[in-house]
Amino acid sequence: MDTEVGVVFRRQSTIMPETMGRMTRDFLRANDAVEPQEAFHARAARARDAVFGRQVFVRGVVEVSNYCRQNCHYCAMRRDNRQLMRYRLAADEVADLIIHHRPASITDIDIQAGEDPAAVREVVLPLMRELRRHTDLGITLCLGTLSSREYDELRADA
Ligand code: SF4
Repeated sequence: MDTEVGVVFRRQSTIMPETMGRMTRDFLRANDAVEPQEAFHARAARARDAVFGRQVFVRGVVEVSNYCRQNCHYCAMRRDNRQLMRYRLAADEVADLIIHHRPASITDIDIQAGEDPAAVREVVLPLMRELRRHTDLGITLCLGTLSSREYDELRADA
C-alpha cells in the first residue's frame, strides 16, 4: 500500500549504515570514549533498565494523514507526488477504534502524519484529548516541523 511505503521511507535514516558506523566510531574516538562493544552494550542495558525497568512497551503506530507540505524527494508522501491517494482520518472514528478496539497488548500510541497542520488541528489534538480522557496510553508524536504555537498546543494536551 502506498501509505506504508511512505512510512517505511520516513523511518529510514538518510545516512548509509556504514557511514553512520564510521561517524559513531569517530565521535567515540574524538571523545576518548572507545570501549569494547560488549561493555558498551552492557552499560546501555543498565541505563535502559534504570529508566524503564524490565518492562516491555508495545507501541501502535497510527498514521492519521498522508498529506504533506514538504517535498523530500525520497518520500512517497512528498507534496508533488500526484500518484498517491491522500487521506486524513476522522478524529472521532480513530479515537473510537483506539479506545474500544485496540489489541490488549498496546501500551503506547505513536500518532504520525506528513507535515500537515490541518491534521494537527482537526485530528491530532482532538484525538489526544479523547485518549487522555479514556485511556492511560503513552502518546508519542511524529508530525514533522510545526510552529511554536502548534507545539505549545500539543504540549498542553500531552
Ligand atoms: S516531511 Fe513529508 S515528504 Fe518529507 S519525509 Fe516527512 S512525510 Fe515525507
